[in-house]
Amino acid sequence: MLTCDVIVIGGGLVGTAVAYGLAQPGKNITVLDEGDDAFRASRGNFGLIWVHGKGRGFPQYARWTRESARQWPLLAARLQDETGIDVQAKQAGAFTLCFSEAELEARSERLAAVRDEAGGDYPYEILDRAALLQRLPHIGPTVFGGSYSPMDGHVNPLKLLRALHSACTQQDVTLKTGHGVQRITYADGLFTAHSGGRQFRAPKLVLAAGLGNAVLAGQVGLHAPVRPNRGQLIITERCKKILDYPTGHIRQTDEGGIQIGESMEDAGFDDGTTNKTLAELSRRAIASFPAIGQLNVVRVWGALRVMTPDGYPIYQESKSCPGAYVVTCHSGVTLAAAHAFRIAPWINGAGAPEELDAFTGDRFPIADASAQVLDHHHAH
Ligand SMILES: Cc1cc2nc3c(=O)[nH]c(=O)nc-3n(C[C@H](O)[C@H](O)[C@H](O)COP(=O)(O)OP(=O)(O)OC[C@H]3O[C@@H](n4cnc5c(N)ncnc54)[C@H](O)[C@@H]3O)c2cc1C
Repeated sequence: MLTCDVIVIGGGLVGTAVAYGLAQPGKNITVLDEGDDAFRASRGNFGLIWVHGKGRGFPQYARWTRESARQWPLLAARLQDETGIDVQAKQAGAFTLCFSEAELEARSERLAAVRDEAGGDYPYEILDRAALLQRLPHIGPTVFGGSYSPMDGHVNPLKLLRALHSACTQQDVTLKTGHGVQRITYADGLFTAHSGGRQFRAPKLVLAAGLGNAVLAGQVGLHAPVRPNRGQLIITERCKKILDYPTGHIRQTDEGGIQIGESMEDAGFDDGTTNKTLAELSRRAIASFPAIGQLNVVRVWGALRVMTPDGYPIYQESKSCPGAYVVTCHSGVTLAAAHAFRIAPWINGAGAPEELDAFTGDRFPIADASAQVLDHHHAH
């Protein structure tokens, strides 16, 4: 039996961001992670720090996301400082492209609504084709206009995961891979995580197991009805710089490849790819930036999003088993700073961030894990 101060279940972007924020000298944090054969959104995502358009009808989420994006430069700087890993965070803004007047109008209306609901502190611009061409000279002839948000950006998500792992290790967080947790028990204020024949015990426990949270949450009086939602992605060969900014579907990585995303499908736990979807993604990419049509594709893959029924995060402490927390979300890249700098201090005993009440799992009926009301604004 190993005893520590906090057990974090899940070593993806969410679990390691929280563990990183929890780490303090003299505090023993243990992260238990299932291992290489697990589903891992953190290894298959698109890498955007994305704010604009998110959170319509849910202003707490719009503010939560905006605040995380605001704290991202600090996270990137600290990771670089502490680990020497440059996660390639570029926050010069991002664009959404529209292909018709109706699309641009809908975009404009959506952004105005989110801005107003979020209290006004929400910079963006709506651009017609001529204005867009000034900033994105390589757009295709059918692009009608678009929106620009200075809040957004992108990172190298694999370097981010590596940096978080490395930063955790340097802060004496114990990372144990190959440690899937099958069962959690609670008695006398202590949680025991059962992993194979081993047991880990602590007075605090954080569920950050991505899709694994759906099963684990109920064992400690929490409710996290997350389900997989598949995204397919494409990466091309490396090329000279053609994109200075990401769009919601296309970005040039720090290594030079063009990454093209991302579909949304309910495919259960199938993380494969289909030619039909990849063809649609390619068509849209070439319509957006015709130069992409000249490039060879080097890899395609599918990955499963960790989706709640409404697409928004769940952050909650258990009432029946105090000391157990669930932290699960889609947009774990964007929200990494919020998890390290706002969620972790709350778990460590500081006051809850003001938005937090809106994110409990109680908002979903117990039997309602299937009612997905998602739109494409949840893609990143
Ligand atoms: C196609 C796609 C594109 C995306 N694009 C973006 C984007 O542009 N921007 C953005 O912000 N976000 C994006 N995301 C979302 C982002 O990748 C996820 O929010 C994030 O990776 C979730 O991290 P996680 O740690 O919760 O889950 P995961 O990465 O799935 O990690 C969960 C971990 O828990 C472990 N685990 C599971 N069950 C157990 C158990 N019982 N015991 C022990 N360990 C367990 C697994 O081993 C795994 O390592 C995208 C996701 C996808 C799929």
